Amino acid sequence: MKQIAVVTGAGRGVGRITAITLAQKGWLVVAAGRDKVAIDAVAKEAGGGSVGIVCDVSDPESVKSLFAQIKSSFGRVDLLFNNAGVVIPGVPLEDVKVEDWQKVVDVNISGVFYCTQQAFALMKTQSPMGGRIINNGSISAQIPRPNSSAYTASKHAVTGLTKTASLDGRAFDIAVGQIDIGNANTDMAEVMRVGATQADGSTKIEPTIDPQNVADAVAFMASLPLTSNVPFITVMATKMPFSGRG
Ligand code: NAP
Repeated sequence: MKQIAVVTGAGRGVGRITAITLAQKGWLVVAAGRDKVAIDAVAKEAGGGSVGIVCDVSDPESVKSLFAQIKSSFGRVDLLFNNAGVVIPGVPLEDVKVEDWQKVVDVNISGVFYCTQQAFALMKTQSPMGGRIINNGSISAQIPRPNSSAYTASKHAVTGLTKTASLDGRAFDIAVGQIDIGNANTDMAEVMRVGATQADGSTKIEPTIDPQNVADAVAFMASLPLTSNVPFITVMATKMPFSGRG
């Protein structure tokens, strides 16, 4: 029987290409997302029995329903890629609207937590026990960009979840790791193509990378036996301003 992978936010961007790449590597992929037409199209393109299931990760009931459907259809889950995420336009910290702050927290932190919680419950009780969870962090989980308080705080929280889940999962053969991306060419990276604000106040167009590079790294992490884990990996544009304080 095929191994079961669930990818959140699978309708476009990094989630879409990772879902297709995992399917090419032999996984049966559950493409989870809010847009039914988009996730069904991804599942069809992925093939190999992959399916689309509607899920809004910021809604705990929707996440419960996703994992209930996975359990009843497949009996288990072997890989969760916590990919769904949102960013808000950069504004000075004091001008961040409460509803924008809340949206980022709901998707980027609570969404990862709800999915991890449900995956833990299933992975602990299934036979054979265990599985792998890969969280999509960001280089903003390491270093902030200017005017990115909500996004940066949320991605630092993802690092906290990765660390605590990798500890709590250890006794149950649940391996937890995180990929921190820098400038993958998706809708989210639009600002890099038009010009992103730098720490010195200037604006620069930044190099981007093919999201396939990210998908390949996730597929590598997922290919390891559960006795082996990649706790953190960074995949970024080589020449983007990050190292060396710029
Ligand atoms: P993207 O193209 O904007 O895609 C974001 C995905 O998340 C979409 O599929 C979106 O679905 C989904 N999503 C948003 N809110 C959701 C919710 N409440 N429930 C379920 N799905 C939801 O961005 P991306 O570049 O692929 O980003 C994917 C992940 O990589 C994010 O966690 C992001 O923070 C991280 N990341 C990306 C970069 C980069 O350079 N691209 C860098 C660092 C980190 P809808 O179509 O329904 O909106």
